Amino acid sequence: MGPMHGTAETPAATEAARPRPGPTVRLGVAGAPDRTAAGPDRGSRALWAGTVQRTAGNQALSRLMVQRQSRPAPADPAPPPGTPAADRKPEDLTGTPFESLDPTLKTKLADKSVYDWKGKPTLAEALNEESNANLAAIARVAAMITASAAFLWKYVSAINGAWVTDNFGVGFSWNDPGSLTADLVGSGNFCRDNPVTARWYHGSPNAFRQIPGSPGSPSLHVITGGHTDVHIDLHQPIEGKETGWFAGQCNLDLGAWWDHAGDVVSGGGATGTAVGRFGVARGNLTDLRSGAVEDETRQLDVAKGKLDSIMYVVQKYAAMGAMVGNEFEGDRQMLADKATMKTLEEAEGILVQVRTDRTARRQRENREADPYRFGPKY
Ligand SMILES: [Zn+2]
Repeated sequence: MGPMHGTAETPAATEAARPRPGPTVRLGVAGAPDRTAAGPDRGSRALWAGTVQRTAGNQALSRLMVQRQSRPAPADPAPPPGTPAADRKPEDLTGTPFESLDPTLKTKLADKSVYDWKGKPTLAEALNEESNANLAAIARVAAMITASAAFLWKYVSAINGAWVTDNFGVGFSWNDPGSLTADLVGSGNFCRDNPVTARWYHGSPNAFRQIPGSPGSPSLHVITGGHTDVHIDLHQPIEGKETGWFAGQCNLDLGAWWDHAGDVVSGGGATGTAVGRFGVARGNLTDLRSGAVEDETRQLDVAKGKLDSIMYVVQKYAAMGAMVGNEFEGDRQMLADKATMKTLEEAEGILVQVRTDRTARRQRENREADPYRFGPKY
């Protein structure tokens, strides 16, 4: 089971490897039992290279992650009279932070067989249940689909949660995977992932990368079988399609590959964007809560207060999914909002401090408990 050929499989492998040295960055599952990098099936597959031994893959992501609700949605309770206003449809997002979402996405969200309203009387209330990170992923993936691959929309039959890791992703169900695949094969803008690695890392032999405007720019990665999703790789390392023997498969750009690999290994990528950082801070807060001693709890409460204070401002930025050049509009506006960024940085600073202190405390405790094993070495 060696590398099959060429380089096309490397990005998928690397992307899936994503070791997470520090804080967990899985988002949108506050309180979920397993939020660590070492997911249950990490390392359970036979792999062709040492760099991918810690793979969790999109398959595991899908499993661990988010709000995979079963469908169909439960019947909605009749809305209380007068709410929403009689002249206002429940799916109307006008005047809400979600107004800036992509228009086609809004029509999908309005359909309760596609998007679970979680029993809420209005779509805005249902969206308000999403974490800002999940909202950002949904907004960005949708805007990019409409801008560059609008044909995907007609195949979307369900929206099954979202995530921010090294990529922004949304779980989609497809109503006609065969036709979808045929469209992707026929499109000049998409190339097929190496079939072997695609099966390992996405639980499916069917995955297609969108050929970006220039190698290393953000673009879509569409998974058509298995755990189906569409996500945005921020540094898509693709320069075009192979011709000849491997016709249709992705042709890698090596320089861009290093940026892509950097996203995956460093935990950067989507989590390093302005809105992504808010989500990471939320995730760290949840992680650090477990096992917190009294003094840590006090500090974590301060960090939480800071994050709560900017929560709704960030929600507004999260819903701005369109790109301006290679930058997301929401990030651009959030970075320009100095007050919000300052508050976020203060919260991040507290979280780093708590983690550092905790590491030092645990090392001290280990030394005291077992001085021979953990004591100083001479
Ligand atoms: Zn990808």
